[in-house]
Amino acid sequence: MTKTYGCPQIPELIDYVCDLLQPEDAVLKQIREYSNQRGLPPIQVGLVDALHLEVFTRAFGVKKAVEVGTLGGYSAVSIARGLQPGGKLYTLEVIPLHAEVAKENIARAGFSDSVKILLGDTPQNLASIEREGPFDLVFIDADKINYPVYMDWAFKNLRMGGVVLADNTFAWGKVHLSKFDSSDEELVVTGIRKLNHEMARGGKFRTTILPTGEGLTFGVKIR
Ligand code: SAH
Ligand code: MG
Repeated sequence: MTKTYGCPQIPELIDYVCDLLQPEDAVLKQIREYSNQRGLPPIQVGLVDALHLEVFTRAFGVKKAVEVGTLGGYSAVSIARGLQPGGKLYTLEVIPLHAEVAKENIARAGFSDSVKILLGDTPQNLASIEREGPFDLVFIDADKINYPVYMDWAFKNLRMGGVVLADNTFAWGKVHLSKFDSSDEELVVTGIRKLNHEMARGGKFRTTILPTGEGLTFGVKIR
């Protein structure tokens, strides 16, 4: 079992949370297994973060949501489960195989009507859905270099009180470091840091960071 929720002081508490929130239900399990089988990288959110996405979506009464980074649809189905009746999730992807596998997974899970996959150029796809906004929730989980771009888009296209969630914002434990293994890694960390900093200090959002294993930055639009 992968540990995806971090409570650094007492590791047993991580086990407690992960055990308590088991098992991964049959639908998510199948999505994960089928995505693996089709050769997608196993980088979907963990079970606890899938629950974060569903529970927040439910709690905030989300009707219109956007996800950047579909992969096999694991997180998309988690968000879709929490949507209000008649709600819609637009999820953006650039790799055709990922979009194809996600389409199958989302159909099997019964969410073809509420989830629309947009494959192709992300800035163009984001522009194409602006008229469907303003949105209630934007989940950012794609190329880390462009995290600040997606955050800016979210700010412009969320309603007041709308929510940004950004995954992997601890940068695999490197977000606080000043030396990096490569310039690519530095670019990734710089993108993530810029999002965190803007969301925490830029005056446009009230923001916290949930100390999940990956780091889940969570802000509410206030201007
Ligand atoms: N949210 C998914 C995991 C996403 S992994 C889940 O938890 O189930 C990141 C995904 O972002 C990959 O599928 C990758 O192909 C996609 N991606 C990379 N660059 C992108 C871009 N510019 N726009 C949209 N998606 C992108
Ligand atoms: Mg992620």
